[in-house]
Amino acid sequence: MVGYSYIWQINLPDRKGAGLGPEEGMTIRDLKIGESAVITQVHGEGALRQHFLDMGMIPGAEVTMIKYAPMGDPVEIQVHGYELTLRLADAAQIDCERIEGRTNPHERVKKIFSSEHPGIGEDGKYHRKGEGDPLPEGTKLTFALVGNQNSGKTTLFNQLTGSNQHVGNFPGVTVDRKDGPIKGHPETSVTDLPGIYSMSPYSSEEIVSRNYVLEEKPKAVIDIVDATNIERNLYLTLQLLEMNRPMVVALNMMDELHGNGGSIDINRMEAMLGVPVVPISAAKNEGVSELVTHALHIAKYQEKPTPQDFCSKDDHGGAIHRAIHAVESLIEDHTERVGLPLRFAATKAIEGDPLVLEQLALDPNETELLEHLVQQMEHEGGMDRSAAMADMRFDFIERVCEATVVKPQESKERLRSERIDRVLTGKWTAIPCFIGIMALVFFLTFHVIGPFFQDLLAAGIELLTEAVDGWMTRAGINEVIHGLVVGGIFEGVGSVLSFIPIVVILFFFLSLMEDSGYIARVAFFMDKLLRKIGLSGRSIVPMLIGFGCTVPAVMATRTLPSRRDRRMTILLTPFMSCSAKIPIYAFFVNAFFPKMGGLVMTGLYVLGIVFGILTAMVFKKTLFKGEAVPFVMELLNYRLPTPKNVLQLLWEKAKDFLTRAFSVILIATIVVWFLQSFDLHLNYVTDSAQSILASLAGWIAPLFVPLGMGDWRIVTALISGFMAKESVVSIMEMLFGGNVAEVLGTTSAMAMLVFSLLYTPCVAAIAAIRRELGRAWAIGVVVFQCAVAWLAAFVLYQLVSLFV
Ligand code: GDP
Ligand code: MG
Repeated sequence: MVGYSYIWQINLPDRKGAGLGPEEGMTIRDLKIGESAVITQVHGEGALRQHFLDMGMIPGAEVTMIKYAPMGDPVEIQVHGYELTLRLADAAQIDCERIEGRTNPHERVKKIFSSEHPGIGEDGKYHRKGEGDPLPEGTKLTFALVGNQNSGKTTLFNQLTGSNQHVGNFPGVTVDRKDGPIKGHPETSVTDLPGIYSMSPYSSEEIVSRNYVLEEKPKAVIDIVDATNIERNLYLTLQLLEMNRPMVVALNMMDELHGNGGSIDINRMEAMLGVPVVPISAAKNEGVSELVTHALHIAKYQEKPTPQDFCSKDDHGGAIHRAIHAVESLIEDHTERVGLPLRFAATKAIEGDPLVLEQLALDPNETELLEHLVQQMEHEGGMDRSAAMADMRFDFIERVCEATVVKPQESKERLRSERIDRVLTGKWTAIPCFIGIMALVFFLTFHVIGPFFQDLLAAGIELLTEAVDGWMTRAGINEVIHGLVVGGIFEGVGSVLSFIPIVVILFFFLSLMEDSGYIARVAFFMDKLLRKIGLSGRSIVPMLIGFGCTVPAVMATRTLPSRRDRRMTILLTPFMSCSAKIPIYAFFVNAFFPKMGGLVMTGLYVLGIVFGILTAMVFKKTLFKGEAVPFVMELLNYRLPTPKNVLQLLWEKAKDFLTRAFSVILIATIVVWFLQSFDLHLNYVTDSAQSILASLAGWIAPLFVPLGMGDWRIVTALISGFMAKESVVSIMEMLFGGNVAEVLGTTSAMAMLVFSLLYTPCVAAIAAIRRELGRAWAIGVVVFQCAVAWLAAFVLYQLVSLFV
């Protein structure tokens, strides 16, 4: 692959607005709040630059500076009518020319379109009505649901499938995959693909979605488009059209659009796009049945989009148009051989997409010819290859929108969002509000709602345990089995189950924050701080959840767009002291430092954060060097999530947790119980000092001598803490019988506290990490954390011993 870098000057097109004459070296970075400019050139290279272009920052596009984050970086800009975040360093890569005020391309269109949409059997429909040969009876109709983030995919998916769905992962990657049949159509299956903005291989989500459409060949694609943000959303639609699969466009959020006096000429849009377009409101369940009818029809008759030439012959003197068609004929037999859609392959080959080029396997002559064609296009069109492709698509979108969309100037939702943002992302209010909101969430979860349900559940489990215990005693069940069921399974799994309410409630609040759009804002104003340790703004959320529990924290990293950030964040979350460690701290504080409880506790939390930051800085320099991913994120209007979505999410989380409790945790409990209950000759023991566990702990104990913790009981407690941190305390109580202060010295107790803070996360967390990152990383985390904990405790113990 050739690395392309574009730094030549292009002739400024006089396409939009009048430039005020070139200003030497002006970039978006130099814009003041409220100022507008036209982009002249986008620097940078490779996938990152492609990402800028795909997000609409193309030469000729108009940008307006909206606001600076409270710490001065990143900034919020508006482009093509939507809001994006951009770091100053990235903004400096984009040259522009200042213009006077912003133009509004939609102002000209005053007419209100009727969105009357003829049903399937009626006139005026654009597509043919099933004259072709249908797929044989009984073929499974598979649909892929593709769309931008927050376009309403999940809402539509839930409407389509009801609760009858299956959650899993895409093969080979840990990206959520949900599928299920459409209600009332058992012969169908809809797959909810991850929300994406483009088909460029930029994030793992984009690759997953792209491969799904290209390789799994769903019978039809349902492209969900947010009608209130139509330019942004149609960009993906165009790339899907290039893929030439049977497809139907679902124009979502029509209620909101109409509510603000906007309208869309559906029939005209259908004609221009060449696929059926169905206006819907997923949240209100309007138009969904019509969508289903169209989708079934198009899948059954395999109606491909009517071929469209998005590249206009007049645009840039026709250079782009000529290049695409020349490349199409150049690669045609290759695309047929490897089964790639022609137009998709042609535009991707021009962009220099490494995956497509590799698949096409052009011979050197053809590669050279391709290069010549592309250079010719760049030369004639005055725009480099990637920008030219993005420009071609946005140009077409602009034509479609001008002809079919009446957009209100500012929607109610936009104005409301701006009002909310004045407080929540205001210069002085942002961080206090954030701290207040987080404190409230944790307070409610861990002190008010959580414990209530937790006590209720614990009481239930206890009743059940007693009942089973009583029954087993009466029935004279074997003592060993009895011990396993009551002392092992019920205690072990039960103690984990009682955490379900906390996890579910925490997720309730977090999904509320995420779906409403608040978390995107937190990422926006925390970005600068987190960049210092090599992370991006979005990592803040999982880290905060980590103070509650590492398991949901690790799961929450899925919202991170870059794999590098995701991995790094997952490795750091265990340093945020989880709530299950609180009993350990309390136990030692009571026994050794009764007067300094608050100080010790706070010190431990701070120590955890310090270690997290140090680790991040080391990782940044070693394991995760790589380039910082540009922080280009859409800031959508605040929206209230639908109760149905929230309930569904909560149910999924609870189910997830239950599955884990009855697989990994159940097995581990049985193993520990076994080791605790038998000696090396497999005799059942009542005194666990003779058990296998004690012998094993005895072998490991010498390792802990330098930390002042060489007692086998301490080691046993720590090992059982691997199961669940809470059990450290119960084992210590049991083995020491309340006289721990006589056995251990104060210095050892300090070492023990530091070790408990830092050592391996519990099995549930490790299992979660394994699910996200794979086995090798999970083992790595255990080893790494134990090593860090050992070293820290060692240094502390030895240092303090010098003085005491
Ligand atoms: P996803 O990210 O694509 O899965 O989008 P979601 O399904 O989570 O929806 C994003 C937000 O848009 C949620 O707050 C929904 O409640 C909201 N939403 C979805 N469909 C509609 C709709 O038709 N009208 C309105 N007003 N809001 C909607
Ligand atoms: Mg979703």
